[in-house]
Amino acid sequence: MPEPTPKADILVIDDTPENLNLLSVLLIKHGYKVRSVTKGSTGIRGAQVMPPDLILLDVNMPQMSGYEVCHHLKADDRTREIPIIFISALEAVSDKVKAFQAGGVDYITKPFQIEEVLARIETHLTLRRLQSQLQLQNEQLQQEIRERKHAEEKFATIFQHSPNPIAIVTVSEGQLMEVNPSFLSISGYTRDQVIGNSITQLHLGHDSTTFLRRLQTTETFHNLEFELLTHSGSVKSILLSFDRIELNGTTYALLIANDITERKRLENEFISLVSHELRTPLTSMMGSLDLLSSGQLGGLTEQGQQVLSIGVKNAERLIRLINDILDLERIRSGKITMNRRSCNLADLMIQATEEMQAMADRSKIQLSTEPVSILLNADPDRIVQALTNLLSNAIKFSPAQTTVQMQACSSGHTPSVCISVCDQGRGIPSHQIQTIFERFQQVDTSDARQKGGTGLGLSICRNIIEQHGGRIWVESTVKQGSTFYIELPLNT
Ligand code: ADP
Repeated sequence: MPEPTPKADILVIDDTPENLNLLSVLLIKHGYKVRSVTKGSTGIRGAQVMPPDLILLDVNMPQMSGYEVCHHLKADDRTREIPIIFISALEAVSDKVKAFQAGGVDYITKPFQIEEVLARIETHLTLRRLQSQLQLQNEQLQQEIRERKHAEEKFATIFQHSPNPIAIVTVSEGQLMEVNPSFLSISGYTRDQVIGNSITQLHLGHDSTTFLRRLQTTETFHNLEFELLTHSGSVKSILLSFDRIELNGTTYALLIANDITERKRLENEFISLVSHELRTPLTSMMGSLDLLSSGQLGGLTEQGQQVLSIGVKNAERLIRLINDILDLERIRSGKITMNRRSCNLADLMIQATEEMQAMADRSKIQLSTEPVSILLNADPDRIVQALTNLLSNAIKFSPAQTTVQMQACSSGHTPSVCISVCDQGRGIPSHQIQTIFERFQQVDTSDARQKGGTGLGLSICRNIIEQHGGRIWVESTVKQGSTFYIELPLNT
């Protein structure tokens, strides 16, 4: 089946009416729409008002030659793109060259062959259509590129100017791929120092190894408190959130931080101020209560004794809380320095067990300690404080008739010793494994009342262990039990 001839609008400019007629009839017969004029100037105007798809233009015309008409049409934006085919009786090569120089796309000599005219017209119409299509696609592409660039610029600006430090790191290694200026300004590093290095290589925090493990095992996390170690060695408190992102087919972690150093400082200052202010009247209150219960000021009824003992119990709890707060604050701020000396871990394990034996007996829990004789360079009182704290928690959160086990083993790889306290208690939900080491974080808020805890014990433990260059963590399964680990470096 023959291809249907596309409808196209053709303008014929020729001063010879016979020629015009001949061409018009021929083109109309083949399905084209034809406009014909005998003068160049009329042709130009017609083309400007309603641009045709193609122009057949006679070279030899009296007032304005075909070349001149062509020049005019090519000089006008409205008509520049219309393909022009010259028609002439002249056959010299120079004429053809002139026609092409004027901007014509083709040249037909008279007397013309019908088939040739039709074939040339069709070829140039197709070319023109393809060209327009290309132009349109090109414009669309340009527009898309502009829009993309615009969007990219927008996000790049947000990234560059965000007041929050942002970093993109690999999930497997924690390698920094991209950071923004806020990140550089808070960490004190230059771009060259961080890009390509990992969080652990740069030692961006005491617990950067734990953080990396978390990055690998958790999809997303919000507002994780993190102590950032800057290039100059100072510590900044930040809240870290991260989420997984896909970039060019690879999964990365997007880290966004919030600097809370100042807020934290004010908070600490406030807590320690309030604690100091509370301690004096509380101690005096405790003295008064003691005096009352001693009976020196007269006897009390049995009910009075009961009320008094509730008062004493609560005052003791308050004093414990305040002492813990102040203790933590002093360790954190370095006001209490670790009094390191050579000591045997076995002695410390035995001492901590003996201190907790009475509590374990009351709770019907068996304490099983396997002392290991290893020489440590540590503050013995503080290490015992940390161990008793872990034992006390293990006892507190375990049911009767279970065992709490304390063991230790040394590792020669990086000379260190790992002490574990394992219980068969209620366990800790996985999302709270990290937060319980923060101040006042308790899995169950009713614990404080029931168990007399302050939510500060693990925070104090962590500070003591970190001051010794070690680390503390927990592995736990809900309803099955928890194992707390303390790793201390040897030979330091
Ligand atoms: P607290 O004074 O409440 O014991 P800690 O800082 O020592 O404060 O512990 C924080 C919280 O961690 C506890 O309130 C408890 O919810 C949880 N926890 C600590 N040790 C254990 C454990 N061995 N088993 C279960 N939960 C524990």
